[in-house]
This record gives sequence, C-alpha cells and structure tokens, in this order.
Amino acid sequence: MDYYALPIANLIEQFSKLPGIGKKTAQRLAFYILEMEPLEAEKLAAAITNAKEKVHLCSKCCNLTDKELCNICSDDRRDESIICVVEGAKDIIAMERTREYKGLYHVLHGVISPMANIGPDEIKIKELLNRIQDDGVKEVILATNPTVEGEATALYIAKLLKPFGVKTTRIAHGIPVGGDLDYLDEITLSKALENRREL
Ligand SMILES: [Zn+2]
Repeated sequence: MDYYALPIANLIEQFSKLPGIGKKTAQRLAFYILEMEPLEAEKLAAAITNAKEKVHLCSKCCNLTDKELCNICSDDRRDESIICVVEGAKDIIAMERTREYKGLYHVLHGVISPMANIGPDEIKIKELLNRIQDDGVKEVILATNPTVEGEATALYIAKLLKPFGVKTTRIAHGIPVGGDLDYLDEITLSKALENRREL
C-alpha cells in the first residue's frame, strides 16, 4: 500500500472492510470515486452519513426504519395476528417479494450461536415475547434460515412461546440446508411458507 497516497490508501482500506469486496474491487471503487464529480462524491458520502443518522429500529418489530414504526407495522391492511420471525431486515424484503404474506414481522438481528458467543439476550427475543403478551397474536411463523444456528434458534423460540398458547410454525424444509432466505426465489419461499408445519 506504500505507493498510494495516504488518503487513497485509507479509502481502499475502508472499502475492503465491506462484505464481498476484495482488494482489487476496493481499489477499483476508490479510483472510481476519485474520478467522480465532486458533487457526486459528496452525495455518496452524505447518503452514508444520513442513513446512519436517520435509520434505527422500528419500536414494534425491530425492522429498520426512519420513523417510530416501520412501513409494515404502520400499514393497517396487514394482519396483526400473525408474526413472521426473521433473522435480518433483508429477509423481510425476500418475504415481501413472494406477495403471499400479509402479516407482520419480527427481526431478530442475528441467531443464537454459541460458537460466535451470541446468546439469546444478544438478539431481539425479549422484544418478541413482549409483543406476544401485548397484542392479539394467534400465530408465530419461525422463518430463520435453515442453517444449524437458524434451526436451533427457531426451536429455542418455539419453547419460549409454548406457555403463551400461541400457534407456532416453522417454514417448510425443501429450502436447501445452509441456504439464505435472501437468495431464494419467490416460488421456493412461497412454497416454504405455504407448507409450514406446527412445532
Ligand atoms: Zn415494524
């Protein structure tokens, strides 16, 4: 990196911290930005700062939003009696693409993973249980990814939900193990949702 001017080296370093960005791509992005019109580069920097400043968790479902409640929670056409539990906010986009699901969501922001030192208190499980107590929830669909951690987290939550007497279901298998909701096509995900089984 010695042959780069320090500000360029910094820029490359920051880009290479992003997921899926290798050294080469980081270099390419850095040089692209240096070639940009100053105003365009400023817009990019401002978009990052602005998103970090304005976006926080929905007070109900922990989805990302710039308001008190996210667009889904504040939409009165949604069925409030069903909650679909997902790992990350991007999984909501995958579920919404199916156009089949009309209930609400709950975003865990991770899964329980003893290997990575992530326990139940590190993800938004407590927030989920609070919702079950408050609202007239009839069904909770556990749609964590079909990985070892995703399955274990689903079972853990199912156990916690037992005393509430709420119907708890798991999206169907047929989703490739180790898969990510985000990468599934709409039809596979629709089928998985349709064929959910009670836990
Ligand atoms: Zn919400």
